[in-house]
Amino acid sequence: MRTEALVLRTVDFGESDLVVHLLTPDAGRIGAIAKGARRSVKRFAGSLDVLNRVRIELAVRRRPGTLARLEQARLVHHHPGLRRRADRFALAGWLAELLDRMAPEGNAAHEAAALYGFALRTLALLEEAEPDARLRVLLELRALDALGLRPELARCVRCGGEPAAFHVPEGGPVCRACGVRIDGLLPVRRGTLRTLEHALRLEPDRLGRLHLSGGALAEARELVHRFARFHVGLELRSEPVLDALGLGVRG
Ligand SMILES: [Zn+2]
Repeated sequence: MRTEALVLRTVDFGESDLVVHLLTPDAGRIGAIAKGARRSVKRFAGSLDVLNRVRIELAVRRRPGTLARLEQARLVHHHPGLRRRADRFALAGWLAELLDRMAPEGNAAHEAAALYGFALRTLALLEEAEPDARLRVLLELRALDALGLRPELARCVRCGGEPAAFHVPEGGPVCRACGVRIDGLLPVRRGTLRTLEHALRLEPDRLGRLHLSGGALAEARELVHRFARFHVGLELRSEPVLDALGLGVRG
C-alpha cells in the first residue's frame, strides 16, 4: 500500500530496526516495523522523526495485531515552524501522543481521512502559533471532538433545558432542576459554554483569534481537563511538559 502518513511515535527495536506509529488518511493509526531503519539511509533517508509528514510504502499484514512492514519513506514536510520553539513543539508532541493513544486502528476510510486532515491543519496552525493556555484548551477540545469525544455544550443532557452546570460523567450540562440530586457538578457560565461551542465550529486556523480570558478561561480549562480525564481515561506523558511551559489545563 502506498499512502501518506504522519509519524506519531518511534521506538528503537533490536539492533537496527525501528517500530513506527503512524497516522494515515486511509487506515487510521498503523504500527509498522522499519527494518534496518537506523542504518538504511537509502530507504528511509532520515525521514522517520516524530511529527514528520511522509510518503510511505507499506506491506500490510493480514493477521490483526501484527505490525505492517514499512518498505520505504520519503519526507514531505518536517514542520520546521514547530521545531523552532519549545512551546509549539511541546503542544504538537502532546497532540501526537493523544492521537497515538486514542486514534482508532483500521477505522472507516472517511473517518480516517477526517482525522488525518484535522491533524495536518492543527500542525499547520501550530507552526505559526503563539501558544498559550487558551489555545491549548481549545485545541484539546477540538482534538477530543476529532476523536469522537464531543461534549454536549448547548442543552441539559437530561431534558434539553437551559444549562446551569456541567456534569462530567454524562459529558454535558444539566439544568437547575435536573442537577438538584447530582453531586460534583462543575460550575460553568453559559457564556463559557457558548464560546466552547463556537470553538467546535471554527476552522482550526481561526482558533487563535477566539477570545477566552479570566474566569471563562479557568472554567474552560477545568471543564476540558475533567472531561478528558474521565472520557479518555489516561494521563499523557507530555502533560507535565505542558504544565511546566504554562500550557496546562490544570488551573
Ligand atoms: Zn434538565
